[in-house]
Amino acid sequence: MLEHDVVIVGGGLAGCRAAVEIARTDPKLDVAVVAKTHPIRSHSVAAQGGIAATLKNVDASDTWEAHAFDTVKGSDYLADQDAVELLAREAPDVVIDLEHMGVLFSRLPDGRIAQRAFGGHSHNRTCYAADKTGHAILHELVNNLRRYGVQIYDEWYVLRLILEDGQAKGIVTYNIRDGKLEVVRAKAVMFATGGYGRVYNTTSNDYASTGDGLAMTAMAGLPLEDMEFVQFHPTGLYPVGVLISEAVRGEGAYLINSEGDRFMANYAPSRMELAPRDITSRAIAREIRAGRGIHADGSAGGPFVYLDLRHMGPEKIMSRVPFCWEEAHRLVGIDAVHQPMPVRPTVHYSMGGIPVNTDGQVRSSGDNLVDGFFAAGECACVSVHGANRLGSNSLLECVVYGRRTGKAIAQYVQNRKLPAIDEQRYITEAQRRLQVLLEQPGKYRINQVRTAFQDCMTQHCGVFRTAEIMQEGLQQIQQLQQQYPDIYLDDKSTCWNTEIIEALELQSLFVVGRIILAAALNRQESRGAHYREDYAQRNDSDFLKHTMAYYSPAGIDLQYRPVTITMFEPQERKY
Ligand SMILES: Cc1cc2nc3c(=O)[nH]c(=O)nc-3n(C[C@H](O)[C@H](O)[C@H](O)COP(=O)(O)OP(=O)(O)OC[C@H]3O[C@@H](n4cnc5c(N)ncnc54)[C@H](O)[C@@H]3O)c2cc1C
Repeated sequence: MLEHDVVIVGGGLAGCRAAVEIARTDPKLDVAVVAKTHPIRSHSVAAQGGIAATLKNVDASDTWEAHAFDTVKGSDYLADQDAVELLAREAPDVVIDLEHMGVLFSRLPDGRIAQRAFGGHSHNRTCYAADKTGHAILHELVNNLRRYGVQIYDEWYVLRLILEDGQAKGIVTYNIRDGKLEVVRAKAVMFATGGYGRVYNTTSNDYASTGDGLAMTAMAGLPLEDMEFVQFHPTGLYPVGVLISEAVRGEGAYLINSEGDRFMANYAPSRMELAPRDITSRAIAREIRAGRGIHADGSAGGPFVYLDLRHMGPEKIMSRVPFCWEEAHRLVGIDAVHQPMPVRPTVHYSMGGIPVNTDGQVRSSGDNLVDGFFAAGECACVSVHGANRLGSNSLLECVVYGRRTGKAIAQYVQNRKLPAIDEQRYITEAQRRLQVLLEQPGKYRINQVRTAFQDCMTQHCGVFRTAEIMQEGLQQIQQLQQQYPDIYLDDKSTCWNTEIIEALELQSLFVVGRIILAAALNRQESRGAHYREDYAQRNDSDFLKHTMAYYSPAGIDLQYRPVTITMFEPQERKY
């Protein structure tokens, strides 16, 4: 059995930042990062637009209080304000620290870090490295893992969280290279497994964003929080769904309908294209529904609207958002200097996740914590984003709460012993699970079942929701889930068997999808990204509370937890 003081699952920004903090706090601790991709290939590397912090380099009147207020208002008042306060207060410090690690941020002419406008932020506070910010940060963090001697197990798939008597003791892993199973025990386990965009058929997320950490947590009997809040990013490139960063609008691009109108004037007149994402995504979806979308031949009534950069001029486009220009050129043959880009909403981000306190320790209920189990980043819900996240606050959450969680873990494991684990029991159980998958005769291809599932989630739990449509969705998913024992794998080998990984990921998708639907069905109001056509208003008297969903194959039990309000009383949200 492998053993480390701390094992972190996930090599994205949150996992790497935590590992660095543990090593910095107590260099004697033995830390491992396990990831199913190489850490550098975590989805964090794809982050484009930037990271928010009130450095005041561009806008001297900015304050952490303004950042906190924007975040709470953006969250439609569901965020926990103690967590938001820490996020906004610690932001300048973590960004400067990243710079000291070597991150190459874009600069102002006088050499200080540049800052741009972003949706829902009242000041220019988003720091960036052109439109490749995640790339710049993750590379430095991974370099630092090596510097601090963190053990990296890359391309190891984690199958299971070992949780016994309310204590996390370790994980069960599958080495993708040779199919070998291992139990890893540790004094603390941290999940930093990212999002679940692949629950839907059109997403900006990479193929590995399948919600495994969420599913493993749910299957261990622990709750997931606020899973009904799924962020649709307004500008996914049509038809592929990859992201065109909000930075493009931050730098001045327009959204245009088939009549040539900047339609955001009808939805958010004061913020226009820089309204928060939930509002902008609904506005685009409404324009498309009303027949003011555009077809590929330029005629009205089509499935997308235009993102128009032409007035920005080639110099600004190529210096500030070169990657977005390149994406549109490479993927759909559009030269954004001369042509508008076709865009529509795409699934982007998970506001909900594994419930944690502000030290990253996982909650087993509203009041209780799980021994030895921590989480941070997109898979966690602390909750700083509430019902809707503001752009450039997620990288920030990964770094602020990655750091906080790392520090808390370094203290937590002092004077703790490695837990006892019946290794053979877990290996045998995992072997059996894999064997069943390999040997079942089956009649469905994985792709068939997964596509049917993703289409079902997209149709039944999208930008607009109703009870009837969601109930139908839940039934369909239960039926589709019954096909799981009938999937057929062509590849029976143990060397680089990516098919077996896809089969395991499909199981995660099912668990996460069911929880999203069940939580969404029960929230009979509209708040942030969760929009119910049958309950179009926000309802604070009944639903100003966090959902805590407990999964079991038989069904999902929903409980609720109060929102922490310390600074800003809920108000009507207008832009
Ligand atoms: C295209 C795009 C652009 C974005 N741009 C921005 C931006 O400009 N600003 C901003 O603030 N936010 C942005 N975001 C959001 C932000 O990038 C993510 O929320 C954040 O990077 C998530 O980091 P993470 O560390 O939580 O997880 P990730 O970076 O997703 O990493 C997850 C890790 O977990 C590992 N893992 C998962 N499951 C398993 C398993 N079963 N076994 C082993 N390992 C596993 C993966 O291998 C990976 O290493 C963007 C997101 C996308 C998709």
